[in-house]
Amino acid sequence: MGHGVSCARTGDEHDFFRAAQVGDLDALAALLAADQSLARRATLYDRLSVLHIAAANGRIEVLSMFLDRGAPPDAVNRHKQTPLMLAAMHGKIDCVLKLLQAGANVRKTAKSVSLISIIPLEKITDSMISHQILMFDSVHARTCLHHAAYYGHVDCLQAILSAAQTTPVADSWGFARFVNVRDDHGATPLHLAARQGRPGCVQMLLENGAIVSALTGSYGFPGSTSLHLAARSGNLDCIRKLLAWGADRLQRDSAGRIPYSVALKRNHGACAALLNPSSAEPMVWPSPLKFISELDPEAKALLEAALMEANREREKKILNGTKYSLPSPPPYDDSADEDACSEVSDAELCCICFDQACTIEVQDCGHQMCAPCTLALCCHNKPNPTTLTPPSPACPFCRGSISRLVVAQTRSACDPDKPASPQLTRRRSRRSHNLSEGSSSFKGLSSAMGSFSKLGRGSSRMADSDSGTLDKPEHDL
Ligand SMILES: [Zn+2]
Ligand SMILES: [Zn+2]
Repeated sequence: MGHGVSCARTGDEHDFFRAAQVGDLDALAALLAADQSLARRATLYDRLSVLHIAAANGRIEVLSMFLDRGAPPDAVNRHKQTPLMLAAMHGKIDCVLKLLQAGANVRKTAKSVSLISIIPLEKITDSMISHQILMFDSVHARTCLHHAAYYGHVDCLQAILSAAQTTPVADSWGFARFVNVRDDHGATPLHLAARQGRPGCVQMLLENGAIVSALTGSYGFPGSTSLHLAARSGNLDCIRKLLAWGADRLQRDSAGRIPYSVALKRNHGACAALLNPSSAEPMVWPSPLKFISELDPEAKALLEAALMEANREREKKILNGTKYSLPSPPPYDDSADEDACSEVSDAELCCICFDQACTIEVQDCGHQMCAPCTLALCCHNKPNPTTLTPPSPACPFCRGSISRLVVAQTRSACDPDKPASPQLTRRRSRRSHNLSEGSSSFKGLSSAMGSFSKLGRGSSRMADSDSGTLDKPEHDL
C-alpha cells in the first residue's frame, strides 16, 4: 500500500509519513525535533494527514501521539474523508475508539457546536459540523457508519453507534435518523451491509433502529429494499435476518421485481427458495420485542435463538424439496444436554408446552415460560398491513400486558436465591422447537435442530470475519 507517501514534497516529509505508516515512534520524534511543522503537513496528492495514515494502518501509538499534541481529529483528505472513516473502512477498532474519544473531547471545548442544534438541518453543511461522526465524504457522501457497514466491521459499527447515542448527533439529528442516514444514491448503511453480504452488520443496524423496508434512491436498482440487495449478493444469513425482522418478500423495486426474481436472476438458488413468496412464511420478530431497550439482553438472546431455530426448521423443509438442501448436521452428542435436562424439575418446566425449561420471565407479574412459547405468544407470522400498531402482548397466565421480559431466575429448593447458571440456561434454550407444529413431534427434532443451528451461526460468523480480506477499500487513500 502506497498511502500517498511517495507524493511527499521533501525527503523529510517522505520519511515522516513513512514512519507514521510503519509506527516508528523514535523516527517520528527525531524528525519532529528537527522540524515541528511536519505534524501539520499533508501528503501532496491525497491530502492525507499523519492521523489518516496512522488510522488506516492501525497505528494506535502514532495516532495517540499526535492527538495528544493537538492534531485535529476531523481533518479531511482529498475525498473529504476523516481519519475515523479510514479506520472504519480498514476495521482498525482501536483507532476508531481513540478517534471517537478524541472527537468527544474536542467537542466539549468547541463552543461553535451549539450552532448545530439551532440551524435547520438543510442548512447544515459539512464544514459547519465539527463532529466527525456526522461528516460526509465527497465520493458518495457517505458517513463513517456507511463505511463500517460496507466493509463489514461489526466492532467499528458498534463503537460508532454507541458514540452516536451519547453525542449532539442524537440531540440534533436524532439517533434513528443517523442510523438511517443516506448517501448521495439514497443508500443507508443497512442497504450497503445487505448488498455486501455482512450479516453481523445487518443484525446490529436492525437492532439499532435501521428501517428494514427503506427504499434506495438510485443505489442498486432504484427502489430496492435491503432484501433486494441481499438477494443480489446471495447472502443467506443476511436474508434470514432481514426476513426475521419483517422484510417484505412482495415489495417490488422500480423495475417491478420482487427480491425472489433478483435472486433467481443471479442464480442464488437457495436464497431464491427462501424468497419465493409461495414458500412458507418465516417467523418474524414481534415488533414489541424488536428493540433491545425494551428487552433484557440475555432474554433477547434466548428468544432470538428460539426464533432462528424455528425459522431454520422451516428453511430445511423449503430447501429439502430443492437441490439446495443444506448440508446435514454432524452427529450431535446429546449426553451433556441430557444431564442438564434431568435437572429440570417440574417446577421449572414451562406450563404452556410442558416440554421446555422456563427461561423467560415477565418482569411485572413474574410469570415464567420457555423462549419458544414466549415467541409463539408474541409472534405474528406475517405483519398485518391493516393494523398499524400491533397490540402489546399479554401474559398468558394473568393477562397483564407484557412490558418487559427478562431471563427467568430458576430457583431450587436448597438455594432459593441463586440464579441458574447462564450456561445451563443457554444449553436448555437450544432444545427449542418448531413453533408452527404441534408439540407432540418435538422431542425427536430438538437435538438435531440444536446442533444444526449452532452450525449455522458458526458459519455466519466465519463468513463475516473472512470478508475483510475479500475487498479492500478502493478510494480512501
Ligand atoms: Zn413452553
Ligand atoms: Zn403474568
